[in-house]
Amino acid sequence: MDFSFFGELLEEEREITPEVTEGYRNLWVAAEAADGTLPPSTLEAIGQAREIANQIGVYVWASLLGDGVEPLAQQLIAYGADRVLVADSPSLAEYQPEVYVKILADLVGQHRPEMLLMPATSLGNDLAPRLAQRLNTGLISHCLKLTLDMSERLLLGTCPALGGEVYHTFACPQARPQMATLEPGYFRIPSADPYRSGEVKRVDLDLGGVTGRLSWLEREASVELPPVPLSRAKIVVSAGRGMGDAEGFALVQRLAEVLGAALVGSRGAFDEGWIPEDRIVGVGGQFIAPDLYIACGLSGDIYHYFGVQSARCIVAINPDENAPIMKVAHMAVVGDARQVIPAMLNALGR
Ligand SMILES: Cc1cc2nc3c(=O)[nH]c(=O)nc-3n(C[C@H](O)[C@H](O)[C@H](O)COP(=O)(O)OP(=O)(O)OC[C@H]3O[C@@H](n4cnc5c(N)ncnc54)[C@H](O)[C@@H]3O)c2cc1C
Repeated sequence: MDFSFFGELLEEEREITPEVTEGYRNLWVAAEAADGTLPPSTLEAIGQAREIANQIGVYVWASLLGDGVEPLAQQLIAYGADRVLVADSPSLAEYQPEVYVKILADLVGQHRPEMLLMPATSLGNDLAPRLAQRLNTGLISHCLKLTLDMSERLLLGTCPALGGEVYHTFACPQARPQMATLEPGYFRIPSADPYRSGEVKRVDLDLGGVTGRLSWLEREASVELPPVPLSRAKIVVSAGRGMGDAEGFALVQRLAEVLGAALVGSRGAFDEGWIPEDRIVGVGGQFIAPDLYIACGLSGDIYHYFGVQSARCIVAINPDENAPIMKVAHMAVVGDARQVIPAMLNALGR
């Protein structure tokens, strides 16, 4: 069979013309401010931008739009930005898609960033595709991982497809800037360095007659907030079938309570009826990236581990030192969780 067309297709796709990339430099984050602070999702994007910028030797720029947001610019610098462009005006108090797109598209046209990152928040998810369309470029949405193809300075974004059953990695070789939105909770928040220096520049607003078309009808101040989503939980305690019975599972529940942690489990724990389906961690369940993951009585096979591989520190309690979770744990306690957890609770109580 003649497969020559296949090579041609691939070659055609990979061709990057110099005109496309010429004059584009630096990495940008479209930062968000909410209620006078920088949300974690923005800090995660700054952290990723910093890592990538260090690899390709460029600067990290951030844009910050809103009303009364200028004091936050210095924080963006502390977290890794080199330069912050601030558009601070009462007319930007509320998100208006047309206005935000106009300002950002003008700034991008003026400064030509090579890559542009945004958090995949509700604002980012609305703004990013509109902006990509205006800039006539591509957008990789909901990235869980970003890497670089250094040979062509290509941003590679990995995103879940088919409800997380498979992962696709995309690039945008033929247009600039290369845009990506980052799924909140999947990237590390960098440490702030209050002594970092950078430049803050105020942007002169020229909206060219563009006005927002959305009207805010009502703003509810006293809504009951939903619990912290699993993807954002800092400490997660997890149970597996090895906890034995409801009494064993209750120990894990207690540990989560005392640590103020989210409670999850393996498919085994779900099969035992201890956790609901939306609390299963793994490829067929939730993906989490806590600072601390305590795995109690679960084997941690690849299906489970995949969902927690981004955890900063995994502690496993299992009598079987050859269980898969013990190989990937940063701290492994070889023992019966039904004895270890009461000892932990005792120590925490003290
Ligand atoms: C397509 C597919 C998708 C899947 N997706 C997921 C998924 O998303 N998430 C998921 O979790 N699983 C998933 N699974 C199932 C997965 O393969 C495992 O079967 C499941 O994770 C096992 O659960 P477990 O670790 O609780 O139980 P087990 O595998 O039975 O492990 C129990 C562990 O407890 C230990 N133990 C026993 N006694 C004690 C004690 N007293 N103290 C401490 N430890 C003890 C044992 O040594 C053992 O390691 C998937 C499977 C398939 C085929």
